[in-house]
Amino acid sequence: MTTVAPTTPTTAAQLDPTFADTPTSRCDTLTPGSIGYRNTSGHVADQYMAIGTSTEGRTIWAEHWGASTGPQVLVLGQVHGDECGPAFLVAAIRQRPPVDIGIWLVPTANPDGLAAFHRHTALDIDPNRDGFDLATPEARAVMHVTELVRPVLTVHTHSPYGWVGAYGGPLATKVATALSEAVGWGHAYNAGTVKNGTQAFLWEGQARVLPGAQSVLIEFPGISPDEAVDAPDPTQVKESTVAVVQADALAMRDALYAVVANDAITPSL
Ligand SMILES: [Zn+2]
Repeated sequence: MTTVAPTTPTTAAQLDPTFADTPTSRCDTLTPGSIGYRNTSGHVADQYMAIGTSTEGRTIWAEHWGASTGPQVLVLGQVHGDECGPAFLVAAIRQRPPVDIGIWLVPTANPDGLAAFHRHTALDIDPNRDGFDLATPEARAVMHVTELVRPVLTVHTHSPYGWVGAYGGPLATKVATALSEAVGWGHAYNAGTVKNGTQAFLWEGQARVLPGAQSVLIEFPGISPDEAVDAPDPTQVKESTVAVVQADALAMRDALYAVVANDAITPSL
């Protein structure tokens, strides 16, 4: 584990050590108002941790925001490199970090895919089907940070389907339901398991390295038809707008903070 103490920034590139490893991409310019994954909040995390190195040599970073004690939540921002909606949740957390809980935020677990605006990693493997095989350094980085941080919950952020799912236990169900209700999407679904072969989602892999690990899956709707064009189920795709996805991200951030903090006082049965 490598930890890096933040320094007082004098330029945008010095704002935090993740800057150079977080490429700009088509997400930054996809449609008016779209944003990328670099930290432009003006805020600096209290800790930066290198959790792995991508195939093309980019450091995969986790940044810590909020309380250093109490429940810690792992938030995986981008996993598929051509998904842009997750950037709004990443930005929302940096803009207003939690007070009562801690967040370990991985802005992008797939920086090579982000640079290429491609769903897969540079090995052309879907990182969210690599939960058991761990053939990619990106999936191994997710397992590494899971073992180090031992989160009470992981939030996996994707697009462009427009639903929320839960996996692994009562806190996940409680949070998924609250997030879905906060944005008016109705009930939460089961995030599920990969149905074919030996593949597994990252949350399934996390439950192997951290028994009992719970996860919430957020599928933001798309902000543009040019986003996530390789999404495996075109019939599920929901198109929305930047303004709506941005508002959804803020509402889900606030619901996440509130429900996890409240659960620490009144644990899920
Ligand atoms: Zn995805």
